[in-house]
Order: sequence, then structure tokens, then C-alpha cells
Amino acid sequence: MISRYSHFIDGCWIDTGDHDGQTLSVENPATTETIAYILRGGSDAVHRAVSAAQRAFSTWSATEPSTRAAYLRALADKVEENAESFAQTICAEVGTPIRIAREVQTALPIRVLRRTADLVNDTIFVREIGNSLVEDIPVGVVAAITPWNYPLHQIIAKLAPAIGAGCTVVLKPSEVAPINALMLAEAVAAVGLPPGVVNIVTGTGAEAGAALAAHPGIDMISFTGSVSGGAAVSRAAAENVVRTALELGGKSASVILPSADLTTAVKVGLANCFLNSGQTCSAWTRMLVPRNAYYAVLDSIKALLARYGPSDPSDDNSRLGPVVSAVQLRRVQHFIGDALARGAHRVEPETPFVLPSAGHFVEPTVLFDVAESDPVFQEEVFGPVLVVHPYDDVDDAARLANCTQYGLAGGVWAATDDEALAFARRLRTGQIDINGGPFNPDAPFGGFKRSGHGRELGPIGLAEYLTTRSAQLRPGSELLRATAH
Ligand code: NAD
Repeated sequence: MISRYSHFIDGCWIDTGDHDGQTLSVENPATTETIAYILRGGSDAVHRAVSAAQRAFSTWSATEPSTRAAYLRALADKVEENAESFAQTICAEVGTPIRIAREVQTALPIRVLRRTADLVNDTIFVREIGNSLVEDIPVGVVAAITPWNYPLHQIIAKLAPAIGAGCTVVLKPSEVAPINALMLAEAVAAVGLPPGVVNIVTGTGAEAGAALAAHPGIDMISFTGSVSGGAAVSRAAAENVVRTALELGGKSASVILPSADLTTAVKVGLANCFLNSGQTCSAWTRMLVPRNAYYAVLDSIKALLARYGPSDPSDDNSRLGPVVSAVQLRRVQHFIGDALARGAHRVEPETPFVLPSAGHFVEPTVLFDVAESDPVFQEEVFGPVLVVHPYDDVDDAARLANCTQYGLAGGVWAATDDEALAFARRLRTGQIDINGGPFNPDAPFGGFKRSGHGRELGPIGLAEYLTTRSAQLRPGSELLRATAH
């Protein structure tokens, strides 16, 4: 039997009458089979959810930070108890290889829940500025709109700091990979979070997402997704004068400086680009290499390509699953075809790939001889497609790294961290990995330019959900002294 999920509103599972109760199907991209149905929510479900979040706000925002931290820890424990089930679900609805679904898609959000709990517990939400007592207070009802590529992580990166700050939330998860969100609702109910603190409405972006972004009862929109979606919610937010945090796309570069160890930089760069079938907003989809190392790099990629044969993502040995949908597959194929038609070449694997017979699989593709003005060099493909491009000197490398409309992430490789960091400071990008430095879930994550302007995770991510209230006191007031700790 295929599961059919309802909305989660005010602590209850609710079927509202939007679109006469119509459903949307959720597909397994490795098999193209339908694995679940969700409700096609609209303005009615959104209105109920926002009303529930508004009702819950006054009590929840007045709780002690330690209470909210305890709920976050309980939620982490509950998700961890069901970790294998979350990983299997995300493997089935996104097509992420199961090993990565366990290590990244599931373990990371559990870690973020725990880190946020500690942070909320340890943060001092009040300070003195002159004769004022300045309190950091929750911004209000948060609309969280999330994509499908790291679905649980992107939900937790909003939900944990929002409820930790004392906000209440209406979540509209991606209609492409919504099951993990509804499993999270079960965990929310199981740990006894008060009704209305977390509400989940399913549906499309054009219907449920747009209705949520435009609802006058919300105080903030935190959106992760495409540039066009981010621009649409920004317009809606502007109408209601609502704060936004936008986490959008990327076209990040891995810059291999002349002094770098080529072998490691190329191997890690390829793995980074192909992670989750290239469906990672921060993926290093352009590899910039010194001109005199260009052909050596292409040769070493040819030898490495065999590791990324597309395969059934539920297999423990799989490194590359399908892309998420038929729409995404057509988009990726279009970018590759367009690049080849414009004169690009692809690195041929030593043995041709054999694609699984069903599912939205595409060959991992490494392109070279690409012009920097070509779409595949400038635009986000969101598939396993890497462009290798030569540069003349480090100024040229910095210019190429910065020449797209995005500025989300990147990597720099050099003989010393000092040299790599000095170069990294020339890049207009929100995060940058120095010689393969690992992801840090406490460091702010977000972008420049069309990659958006929000910051998620850690103390800076928590601050997104806070605003201030200043109380001016008489000079010498005992309240000033009382808080001077
Ligand atoms: P998308 O914009 O199509 O959808 C994202 C979410 O927004 C979904 O829930 C969708 O239903 C909703 N939505 C779409 N249009 C909307 C509208 N007009 N109003 C309100 N809601 C709307 O993006 P996607 O295809 O799900 O995700 C892929 C994109 O997300 C890529 O561009 C990727 O780079 C980006 N992304 C960015 C980050 C980051 O942190 N910067 C992280 C992951 C993904």
C-alpha cells in the first residue's frame, strides 16, 4: 500500500478541502515508481497553519531557552532512533546513494539539532548598551520553504534555530521529496512539542508556497531554492514588509593554484562535484587549473571517472544515483548537449558507462574547451557535470572564479594554507574550503549576489530568527546592574 500523507497543523494530521482534496504523487527517481501521495495544499491549509502558529507563538516565545533546548535534544534523539528509516526514505525520494543518505542526509541534521540545542542553552539573550536593556527576542511566525536536494538538512537548518529562538514555524517542504518532512512531523508529535509550534503544509510552490509567502500573518520567510523562487517570495515579502533570508543557487569554483598537490585537488574536486548527482547548491562545478597543468588534469580525471558509474542508489557501493526527476534529467541533458554543440568536448571514460534501464540516470560528465560565456560555465546545471577550465595566472583565476552571477561556495588548493587563504579572500563567495577543509555545521552558510543573502547554521544562523527590543532605563537603575553578567 502506498502511503498517503496529510498536512500537520496544530499538532494534528489534517485533510483540508484545498483543490477538493487532490493529491500529488511522489516518485522514486531510480525506478520511476510512485512511492507516496501528499495533499495538494493551498490557501486554506496555509491559513489554518499560520493561524495555529500565531496562537502558539505567545506561549512558546515566553518559554525558557533551556526548555526549548531540551525539546531540540529530544527531537534529535527521536530522529536518531529512526535514522535508518530517514536515510532509506531520502534514498528513495531523492535518489541519494544510501551511504551518503546515512552520512550526510541524516547524520548531519541530527548533529545540527544537537548543536543548536547547545547554542540556545548557552546564548545570553539580553545585554546592556548604555542605559538600555537590549533583549534578543524571536522574530515571530516563520514561513520556511525548502527544496528537495538535502531535504531534511535544509528543514532542520531553519526549524532548529527558529524554534530554538522562540519562533513558531509553518514549513512548506519540497513537493518532490516531502516524505522526510512528514516523518519529522511524527517525531515532533512524539516528543510532545506544543501544538502549533511546528506546522507542515504540503503542495506545490506555485500554490502552497506562494500562499504561504503572501500570508499577512507571517513575520519572516526563510527560503532555500532556485533564484526564480527566491525572487518570487521576495516580491511577496515586500508587499507585507516581511524579513527574508534567501539561500539560492551556486556555480562554485575549485581553484587549483600552481603550487597545489594536483592529485588530491583533482580527486576531491571530482567527488565534491558529483556528490548527490551534482545536486548540491555548494558543488564545485568548475575546476580552474593552471594552463600548463590542463591536460594532466584531464588525464587524471579520465582515470578517476570509472568510480562514478551510475547505479542503484540503494546499493551500499553506489557513489552516483539518478537525478531527482524527469524534468531535472531533461535540464541536465540540455546543458550537456548545448555545450557540445558550442564546441566543448567531454572526457570519455576508459570503459563506457552502462546506465540502469529504468530511472532518471545520466552519465557523469566532465567538459573541457568550454567558453567562459557558455551557459554551462555560467549557470547552475544541478547534475553531475563538471567544467574544467585553464587560467593564465592567479589574477585570471580570481576573475574566472568571480565571473558568474553566483557567490555561494568554493575551494582553493595551494602548497600552504596561507597562500590558499590569501587567494580565497579575493573571491566573492560566502564560504570557501582551504585545501579540503571539511564542512563545519557551526559556521555561517550562505551566499553573495544571486546566491542569496541569508546565513544559516551556528550562532549567526540563530541570529536570523531574532530581533531586538530595547528598554531605556533611568541611569543607575537596579535593572541595569542586575543584568550586568
Ligand atoms: P525551487 O525554487 O523549485 O523550490 C524550492 C522550494 O520553493 C520548494 O518547496 C518549492 O515548492 C517552493 N517554491 C517554488 N516556487 C515558489 C514560489 N513562487 N513561491 C513560493 N514557494 C515556491 O528549487 P528546487 O528545485 O526545489 O531546489 C533546487 C534549487 O535550490 C537549486 O537552485 C539549488 O541551488 C538551490 N539550493 C540552495 C541552497 C543554499 O543553501 N543556497 C541549498 C539547497 C538548494
